[in-house]
Amino acid sequence: MPSEVLVKGSGLKPRACSSSEQSARGCKAGTEFPLQAQGRAPPSGTAAPAHPEPLVDAHCHLDCFSQEKLDSLPPGIIPVTAGYSHKSNLKNAEIAKRLRIPFCLGIAPQTALSEGVEKLPEWVDFIKKHSPNAIGECGLDFHWSKNDADIEKERIVFAKMIGLAEEMGLPLVIHSRKSDPAVLDALEEFGWKLPFMMHFFSGNGADAERAVRMGGIISIIGMHSKGRKEAIQRVPLEKIVVETDAPYAFRNIDGIHEGIKYVAEVKEIPEETVAKATAENAIKFFNIKQ
Ligand SMILES: [Zn+2]
Repeated sequence: MPSEVLVKGSGLKPRACSSSEQSARGCKAGTEFPLQAQGRAPPSGTAAPAHPEPLVDAHCHLDCFSQEKLDSLPPGIIPVTAGYSHKSNLKNAEIAKRLRIPFCLGIAPQTALSEGVEKLPEWVDFIKKHSPNAIGECGLDFHWSKNDADIEKERIVFAKMIGLAEEMGLPLVIHSRKSDPAVLDALEEFGWKLPFMMHFFSGNGADAERAVRMGGIISIIGMHSKGRKEAIQRVPLEKIVVETDAPYAFRNIDGIHEGIKYVAEVKEIPEETVAKATAENAIKFFNIKQ
């Protein structure tokens, strides 16, 4: 889910999946999408992709895509679909297995606020049974929490997700809004040693550097901000991936080109270099089998 408010190009606020976009689970058998067939020719009449290698969208929510959009995902991009609630985890696990794409399962802080923590054991049970590529999104969100009790709920869920990821030996995908130092403190207190990804990074350069020193990577979305620019400048390319958070921040996974362009501009290096490196970084981070 998004850390910022604007939906790129629309001026709309991010929304929960609309009912018309929630039909993803009704996909017909046999409509399997060959996303892993990266070398396939584009449909006739379409321009060849600018980048011959597969790109990786390190964070999106295919559970919020309509059936139509799922059936016509832009080619040449491997999406990493992420859950944020139990309901969203159910859908993402099903979609990822059907499309044979990488996926993350987790409980986001906003879900801790809207649904409480009582069902956490049941939610965790489901995650354990479905071998995701990473645990997340999860973390802390100080934008939506209104009081100490809210923050406590977020912390309970985050601690559970960190423990689960450690138990499963998986990396963490972090949602953090106005809470980067608190998230990094929590990881440090836990003694977190595995990789983690700061999804939709919206902190500043110092937070980004600290995350990287702690073994993290920074996920950049193609939306300009002072803090994001600082992060791109100060973090080595080997520690950067790109994402769309589609359909929230960008409508579709081809918004990944904006992230690539942004990193290339700030670092003053060719887009091809960024495309290749960010894909390799994501493949390594999520342990994506090609
Ligand atoms: Zn998200």
